[in-house]
Amino acid sequence: MALQNFDMNYSVQFGSLWPSIRVSLLSEQKYGALINNFSHADRVSQELELLNAVDFVYESQKTVQRVQEDLPVEQVRAEEAAPQESHTEQLSVEETQTPALLSPSISPNIKCYTFSRGDVSRFPPARPDAFGTLDYYLLDAASLLPVLALNVQPGDLVLDLCAAPGGKTLALLQTGCCRQLAANDISASRSSRLRRVLSSYLPKSLSAGVRITSWDGRNWGDLEGDTYNRVLVDVPCTTDRHSVMEEDNNIFSRLRSKERQMLPMLQMQLLLAGLLAARPGGEVMYSTCSLSQLQNEYVVERAVEIAEIEHNIRVRVEDLSYVRRLFQDTFSFFADCRLGELVLPHLTANFGPMYFCKLRRER
Ligand code: SAM
Repeated sequence: MALQNFDMNYSVQFGSLWPSIRVSLLSEQKYGALINNFSHADRVSQELELLNAVDFVYESQKTVQRVQEDLPVEQVRAEEAAPQESHTEQLSVEETQTPALLSPSISPNIKCYTFSRGDVSRFPPARPDAFGTLDYYLLDAASLLPVLALNVQPGDLVLDLCAAPGGKTLALLQTGCCRQLAANDISASRSSRLRRVLSSYLPKSLSAGVRITSWDGRNWGDLEGDTYNRVLVDVPCTTDRHSVMEEDNNIFSRLRSKERQMLPMLQMQLLLAGLLAARPGGEVMYSTCSLSQLQNEYVVERAVEIAEIEHNIRVRVEDLSYVRRLFQDTFSFFADCRLGELVLPHLTANFGPMYFCKLRRER
């Protein structure tokens, strides 16, 4: 059912790219190993390097640094003196060929190892240290991109509105920047899983500081509005890769067809709640693991519209093309996203799908 639906919709949306995305969705996915900074990060990193894995975040920063070093001093000064670009306009082709000099920041301290393009090796399972803390967390490396692009800063109040099972929550905590982190998920059982993940990776003092709740995220704006510097809204979606591979609890089963039809509405309500929870000047990251425009760009557009009309909140959609440039060696990005960025599954870099779009609340 999922494949039938995708063949119908995605062949129109992606045209000649669809057969290659389709075969990648049906092939084994690649993982990344998110290093746990609260265990023996250096030792584990060395071990993974011996397996020929590379930290794709570190590699991207090295490229930026190299470009900076190669540029003439006058150009560096001119770029440093230039006002910070707003990222609202698409960059021209020439601009996209030079990685942004003042590399718009990404969340710090996140280390994630992947095997390079075409290498389909697998990571061994994570191991506990003497205190029982696990050394890395295996996840689709593309799912770190929304966290990296959220650009969490020291002292931020951070909300993760749909947090379970907790891969992105864990990544947010690896930054060491969250003054407070609220992690919410409507499902009590999935929230327990989140609690278990955090306690397997963090010292007690830190995991105890994370506020875990099981509320309906749609109400968050009423409960705690205008509060957070950074909000992650990683919504429930058709989980495209899972849906073509797993029978169990499949969102395309007839029993769940109503729920599936209502997804864009739920996603829009969650994003709107995230915008209301952000303080003016705060940033909200919307993400899904679906290729569907209906769940991605259309949801963003609708939420921006309703925020303005019904709540008098002005929102700016940020240009994330710098993220694409930074990480294009590791991931295969869709070139024609109107808003936000989309990682396409590809046989040589079989991550994703992962859509992410950053919104800045202006007032
Ligand atoms: N961010 C998680 C991670 O990285 O591990 C994955 C989140 S998953 C894509 C979406 C989550 O949204 C599910 O765990 C689901 O229980 C939760 N959810 C669904 N409806 C919700 C709602 N109304 N409020 C809060 N969470 C909700």
